[in-house]
Amino acid sequence: MSERIIDTLQRASMMLEAAGIENPKQDALVLLAHVMEVDQSSVLARLQEPLPPSALYGMDRVIAVRSLRQPVSHIIGKRGFWNHEFMVNSDVLDPRPDTETLVAAALEQPFDNVLDLGTGSGAIILSLLAERPQAMGVATDISAKALDIARRNAGRIGVADRVQFKESNWFDNINGRYDLIVSNPPYISEAEMQVLAPEVRDWEPHLALTPGGDGLEAYRRIADGVKAVLTPNGRALFEIGYRQALDVSEIFTKAGFTQLEVLQDLAGHDRVIVLNLE
Ligand code: GLN
Repeated sequence: MSERIIDTLQRASMMLEAAGIENPKQDALVLLAHVMEVDQSSVLARLQEPLPPSALYGMDRVIAVRSLRQPVSHIIGKRGFWNHEFMVNSDVLDPRPDTETLVAAALEQPFDNVLDLGTGSGAIILSLLAERPQAMGVATDISAKALDIARRNAGRIGVADRVQFKESNWFDNINGRYDLIVSNPPYISEAEMQVLAPEVRDWEPHLALTPGGDGLEAYRRIADGVKAVLTPNGRALFEIGYRQALDVSEIFTKAGFTQLEVLQDLAGHDRVIVLNLE
């Protein structure tokens, strides 16, 4: 006899809770919708119906991997960010809502030519290009595997003809000038890496999370090269850790930037540094 959908959700939620998952009910719903290949609202509309037998095995499997703390995004293979769904896996940082603060701020001024350093899934630059149909972009990453994902996302989002992908360690293979430069670089310190949630620490690429040491090395590398590729009236926006505003401001001030601004995310945490060249 098969169980009803509501029973499956309850059972899944209890198992996830026992595994220490933070939002067991929400995860159970997202995972069941994925297994049933429908959206969440159709699961909720069918709570009293029997679970299709084909979904039973799939649900057991996804609950088992989620209990091992594999992120939901990796299990379902996608994550919503800004206006699109991005394909994600363990080769790229999961796009986070905090990073939408950077996208919103970047869109406040016009730009024609954007450079994204360490693009990962492409979440930032592809969101920007989708919003500005005349703009062109270059997306870099040191990881060829990340660039594969970003390329696929560009195709899905329909901006592939306006973005070029380059394997590059920061500015190594970059030439030309850009009126907008963006990055969400690795900024977690070595010490902080130890206390991250298992979903992040054990499943997301360390290369994308931490430069090691004090967590500031990527900003030092960026500060060394950014002026040479920014147009005279260009802007650069970089994501920062919520306790890094002072240290990162110091790094860019030393590099000769006089117009710095720090923006907060929706939680009120320092999250983005904006540099203007004027
Ligand atoms: N915001 C991410 C986190 O705290 C880190 C992203 C990054 O290092 N760029 O998990």
